[in-house]
Amino acid sequence: MSSAEQGVGEILIPEADVRTRVAELGAEISADYAGRDLLLVGVLKGAVFFMADLMRTLSVPCEIDFMAISSYGAATDSSGVVRILKDLDINIAGRNVLVVEDIIDSGLTLSYLMRSLRARKPAALEVCALLTKPERREIEVPVRYVGFEIPNRFVIGYGLDFAERYRNLPYIGVLHPDLVPGATR
Ligand code: 5GP
Ligand code: MG
Ligand code: MG
Repeated sequence: MSSAEQGVGEILIPEADVRTRVAELGAEISADYAGRDLLLVGVLKGAVFFMADLMRTLSVPCEIDFMAISSYGAATDSSGVVRILKDLDINIAGRNVLVVEDIIDSGLTLSYLMRSLRARKPAALEVCALLTKPERREIEVPVRYVGFEIPNRFVIGYGLDFAERYRNLPYIGVLHPDLVPGATR
């Protein structure tokens, strides 16, 4: 076991399954956007790993940009009140924007983000999330592309962190139960 793996309780989605699903999503997105160009908007930091792999499976011309946001409120639950820490560099008016997220939990963060992006008048605005926890949803946000639906457990790896660690794991794991008390995002 490598030191990066010491906090992993179990592997939920093995590396090969992640890779297969990312390629499927890439094929679907490439077909849907054929003849158009795409601007991928990644939400830092968790989406970086997924976005880099997804982009390499796309056959349409694409650019990338990033936003960093922080949500106020209790440590483990997002409040829906979101502060933009880093905004986009690119003007998205008239662009085909695909927001790339690591995981949708309550949906509050994404809902706020979508409102902010919609106001900038993109030609198209859709979401691609690697993971979703439907049980936890508090607000409906239309997510066009979903990698995997997962149960209500705190996951790490493939970009997802616990206290900024474990992002480098190549699979999606469940945080070891010993570490869960006081788990924050
Ligand atoms: P939401 O606003 O949808 O409740 O919060 C979404 C954000 O919470 C995600 O982008 C992610 O940063 C964090 N989050 C939600 N569930 C998990 C999880 O199981 N593991 C990790 N590492 N972060 C999570
Ligand atoms: Mg995220
Ligand atoms: Mg986090």
